[in-house]
Amino acid sequence: MKYTQPELPYAHDALAPAISRETVDFHYGKHEKTYIDNLNRLIKDTEYEDMALEDIIRQAEGPLFNNASQAWNHIFYFFTFSPDGAHEPDGHLRHKIEEQYGSVEQFKKEFVEAGTGIFGSGWIWLSKDDEGKLFITPTSNAGNPLTQGLTPLLVFDVWEHAYYLDYQNRRADALAALWSIVDWDVVASRYI
Ligand code: MN
Repeated sequence: MKYTQPELPYAHDALAPAISRETVDFHYGKHEKTYIDNLNRLIKDTEYEDMALEDIIRQAEGPLFNNASQAWNHIFYFFTFSPDGAHEPDGHLRHKIEEQYGSVEQFKKEFVEAGTGIFGSGWIWLSKDDEGKLFITPTSNAGNPLTQGLTPLLVFDVWEHAYYLDYQNRRADALAALWSIVDWDVVASRYI
């Protein structure tokens, strides 16, 4: 099976000013595309060719893990955003965030702090376990909480390529700006 890069459900300039059109052009158009191209090249004529992407991530190592996970992570990342999505969590997910973190604002603060604190490249995730308990999970490089038995709900990319054109070295500002474009209905749809 050959993976195709999914079209974004919004225009490349629709996430500005949180993420500029130029950053979407490069990040989605070049970085994400390259990971998917590499993934297709690496699985061709191997035992991984017809495996679900999540299973490749759980089983592979080295370059195949890196490119499979980066493909998954970027697709997940860009589909979390919307220029006109739900700006706040609601219902069961909101209740759980408030129960564990005290308030949505406190959760956002801890999430951005955890992402800002990652040394080098990586991702900051909100994940859940099988009981619905929430976790703020930092991963390095191509890491994904799927390998820890957790289900990802939300992710911010903290690789410099995700923000350097717009924010240069100001990673904390880049992450905080993303709250304005997170579609909480999408996040909640993953909390099942
Ligand atoms: Mn990236």
